[in-house]
Amino acid sequence: MTEQHELQAAIEGLHLRYQSLTDGSVATYIPELGKADPEDFGISIVTAEGRVFETGECRRPFTLQSISKPFTFGLALEAFGDERVARHVGVEPSGDAFNAIELQDGTNRPYNPMINTGAITVTALLHARYGDETFDHLLDRLSAAAGRPLEVDEAVFESERRTGHRNRAIAHLLLNFGVVHEEAERALDVYFRQCAILVTCSDLATMAATLANMGRHPLTGTQVFDVTSVKHMLAIMFTCGMYDYSGEWAYRVGVPAKSGVSGGVMAVVNRQIGIATYSPRLDTRGNSARGIEVCVELAARLGLHAFDCLNFGSSFLKVVL
Ligand code: GLU
Repeated sequence: MTEQHELQAAIEGLHLRYQSLTDGSVATYIPELGKADPEDFGISIVTAEGRVFETGECRRPFTLQSISKPFTFGLALEAFGDERVARHVGVEPSGDAFNAIELQDGTNRPYNPMINTGAITVTALLHARYGDETFDHLLDRLSAAAGRPLEVDEAVFESERRTGHRNRAIAHLLLNFGVVHEEAERALDVYFRQCAILVTCSDLATMAATLANMGRHPLTGTQVFDVTSVKHMLAIMFTCGMYDYSGEWAYRVGVPAKSGVSGGVMAVVNRQIGIATYSPRLDTRGNSARGIEVCVELAARLGLHAFDCLNFGSSFLKVVL
C-alpha cells in the first residue's frame, strides 16, 4: 500500500474531528437556503499544479452567495481599471455586518466590495458596461475558473429575488446617492443570480487554486484573470473576506479567504494551494462553523499563515509533494 500523502491525511483527520461539531445554524433568511442538509461536510484542496486532495461531501452543489464577490470585483477591475472602480467603491474593512446599510462619510462610497453595498455597486458597474450580457459574461469567467460550465440554482435565485428586500433597499440607496445607474433593479437581478451560481466543494477549491496559480487554471491552463486583478482580489479577501471576523481570521489563519452564507469557505495560499470547505451551519458572524475550525487548524499545522516563519512560499509544497 502506498503511503498516504500528508495533505490527504491532514484533511481526513480534520474531517473526522469536526464532523461532531454541530454549533451554529443553517441560514434561512433566504428561505431556499434553509433546505441545505446541516450534516454535509466536505474539505477539498487543489494545488497550484492541479493535484487534488479531498474528503467528505465534495460533490454536493451549493450556491456561491458572497463567494462570488471577489470574482465580480476582479472582473470590474479588468473592465474599468482600479482608478475608475475606486471612484465607486472603497477598500476599507467596515467592521459591520455584510448587509449593513451604510456608506463612507464624505464620499458616499460603499466601504469595500465584499459587503453587499459594495458588491451590488460592482455588479451595477459591470451591468453598465455589459447590459443584458452581464450575467453570461460573469458566468463564463467563473466557469473558466472552475474548469467546467457552472449553472444557476433557479429556486435559490427566485427565493432571494422574492425576499431580498434589504438588498433592494441597498440598491435604491445607492441609486439615491448616484453610486449606481438607473437600472438598479436589473443590476440587482444579476447580483441575486451571481449569488445563486452552483458549485461543489471541489469546484470551489479549484477556483481558489486558479487564484493561487496567478489567475491561471491549474489543469486547463486558461488564464482566467489577469495577475494584477488577482493581486487586488486577494488583497481585498485578506482584509475583508470573512465578514466581521476578517481581522481575527487574518490574525489566526493569515491567508486571503471568502465565505458565503450557504456554508462555503474558499481560502487561497498564494502560489501554493486553493482550499475549500463546505458545511452549512453558520456561526454568529455568518461563517461556516466547521469551515473556520478546519482552516485555523490546517493553517497552524502546515504553516500556511502568510507571516508564519514556516511558510516557505511555493517551495513548501514542492517539499511536501
Ligand atoms: N445573496 C446573499 C445576500 O446578499 C449573499 C450573502 C452572503 O453570502 O454573505 O444576502
